[in-house]
Amino acid sequence: MNIVDIIIKKKNKEELTYSELKYAIDGFILNEIKDYQISALLMAIVINGMTTEETINLTQVMIESGDIIDLSSIDGVIVDKHSTGGVGDKTTLILAPLVASCGVKVAKMSGRGLGHTGGTIDKLESIEGFNVNLKEDQFVKQVNDIGCAIISQTAEVAKADKLLYALRDVTGTTESIPLIASSIMSKKIASGASVIVIDVKVGNGALMKTKEDATKLSNLMIEIGKKHNKKIVCVLTNMSEPLGFAIGNGLEVMESINTLKNNGPSDLKDLVLKLGSIMVSLSKDIDIDTALNQVTNNLENGLAYKKFEELLLAQNGDINNIKVSNRFVSLKSSRSGFLNEINAEKLEEISQKLGGGRINKEDSINYGVGIVLNKKVGDYIELNEELARIYIDQIDLKVSDILNVFKIEEAQKLKNKLIIDIIKWLYYKF
Ligand code: URA
Repeated sequence: MNIVDIIIKKKNKEELTYSELKYAIDGFILNEIKDYQISALLMAIVINGMTTEETINLTQVMIESGDIIDLSSIDGVIVDKHSTGGVGDKTTLILAPLVASCGVKVAKMSGRGLGHTGGTIDKLESIEGFNVNLKEDQFVKQVNDIGCAIISQTAEVAKADKLLYALRDVTGTTESIPLIASSIMSKKIASGASVIVIDVKVGNGALMKTKEDATKLSNLMIEIGKKHNKKIVCVLTNMSEPLGFAIGNGLEVMESINTLKNNGPSDLKDLVLKLGSIMVSLSKDIDIDTALNQVTNNLENGLAYKKFEELLLAQNGDINNIKVSNRFVSLKSSRSGFLNEINAEKLEEISQKLGGGRINKEDSINYGVGIVLNKKVGDYIELNEELARIYIDQIDLKVSDILNVFKIEEAQKLKNKLIIDIIKWLYYKF
């Protein structure tokens, strides 16, 4: 076999076999096949696509490239949840204890943020002392003991994905539905859960800009999940404005705590109840209305918050010591009218420039900075009323750049729905 022949085959729009994909990816990991050759192959995939069978094979090769986590010593069904990445998306922090409080095991491996996407692990590290590096046996023990654990995914899970992702980032090859599907699903399958719920974000602050692309990605991930006997559901959700009010690591933890105390923003609460009810319904094999009752009750009666306290205790996090900057600039509206648009992607960029996100993998981040909105799309705002607070550390801000993120108009536009679609196997009960 020869890598040049494989690249040319894909350039000619032919389907690659499992053996050819295995040869290319394994050779890349061993550095026998060079990154310029894999870059050419990735670009041919971006341009010519992959069949479903080919994507399933690529996913399999990526799973086999690293560790496969064995969760068989955890009693009961284990559920995992993933988001394709959105601005202000702190749902994992709420869902893990919420779903665990309903008696379902959540063994969650999460990532750090890079570029425009935030990461659950960075958010958790804004809580003083929180240990994201449990060993596999400690992780399993904690899930058995209290029902949930959230740790940092090691570089050894779906090892090929780490290397491919870094290459895609610098070669203009991130935007490909088969490459995204295989990247996400290789990590999910190698992480060992049997139920997987994926929040596929759609809109200007998301990887998938249209419902059509999000649907294609979801269908492909479901096909891959089915091949591995996973129960899998994709929920398409709106990401044309940030989720909740807070953007930034420590600020998002504070908002998550408020939500767990049943005092959070309504869009965030609605989304966690929707995702949580699907996770509980699939895991316990109960109908969606019964599951929704359970998650709603536990969010409202304090059991979810109690589980969050147990999670912090188990992983050493100090709830009284969350990093949030005490300096903020108040952003005032320059006119009155309806807030018709908040550009989520630009806000994430601003938060990153403040020091809240990484541009390169090695960058350190400032956990305390970020943005807290005072208004959501659809709200009316007066001249000079506060639009948002920008939490800063050292950097001075050009407020005019930030004002451009908000579109205020005389007439109110129709607001996008939060839940756009649910894509699932027909036999599920909802
Ligand atoms: N998230 C992933 O894990 N991989 C991608 O390729 C895109 C989003």
